[in-house]
Amino acid sequence: MDYLFPPPAVVSLPITARPDRFPVHRVYCVGRNYEDHAKEMGFTGREPPFFFLKPADALLVVPEGETGSMAYPTLTQDLHHEIELVVAIGKGGNSIRPERAMEHVWGYAIGLDMTRRDLQSDMKKQGRPWCIGKAFEQSAPVGPVTPMAEAQRVLSAEIALSVNGADRQRSTTAKLIWDVAETIAHLSNAWTLQPGDLIFTGTPEGVSAVSRGDTLVGRVAGLPSLRVQIV
Ligand code: MN
Repeated sequence: MDYLFPPPAVVSLPITARPDRFPVHRVYCVGRNYEDHAKEMGFTGREPPFFFLKPADALLVVPEGETGSMAYPTLTQDLHHEIELVVAIGKGGNSIRPERAMEHVWGYAIGLDMTRRDLQSDMKKQGRPWCIGKAFEQSAPVGPVTPMAEAQRVLSAEIALSVNGADRQRSTTAKLIWDVAETIAHLSNAWTLQPGDLIFTGTPEGVSAVSRGDTLVGRVAGLPSLRVQIV
């Protein structure tokens, strides 16, 4: 059988210090998962977790030591950064119990949930889906995956983002409202997780706008930093 046109390429992430790659299935994102960010967005920080998705081909894969180039997207005047710890799923499942959830984690990466905030806010006001604000091309810059065994400390690690060398976001992953195990448990009640799924776990406070020419550096202690320039 021939395809009518070439099928889309498999999106994959490099793996720290290994030659093989992590093939990506879906990209799930958790909304408002740090209390101080929920508050800055006008919420209490005490709601159940909720989720949205980005297409796998919205990832901007940035190899270790390189600077990714993200084109400033169309339709927005308010492109925001959200630094996030990303969980890479290695074993699928549904209705996963929190106490078994970490068995499904293969590793961790650093990601940016780039957001057209003005469009997202418009959609929220109208009660419409957020896709246009969240799921656009290159909206998810992401670095290499580090295997879980080599990244034990990321669950209680500093998470930070600087823009042109100035601090914008700084917190700790210990402040996740729903931790990685709880997030996997909730998510797997709604969708069947598959190997290759990524979960962007939410951003701490300090989100703000970036412009063309800005250089963003995201850090989670224990993972290679993520560097992206807006062009
Ligand atoms: Mn986010």
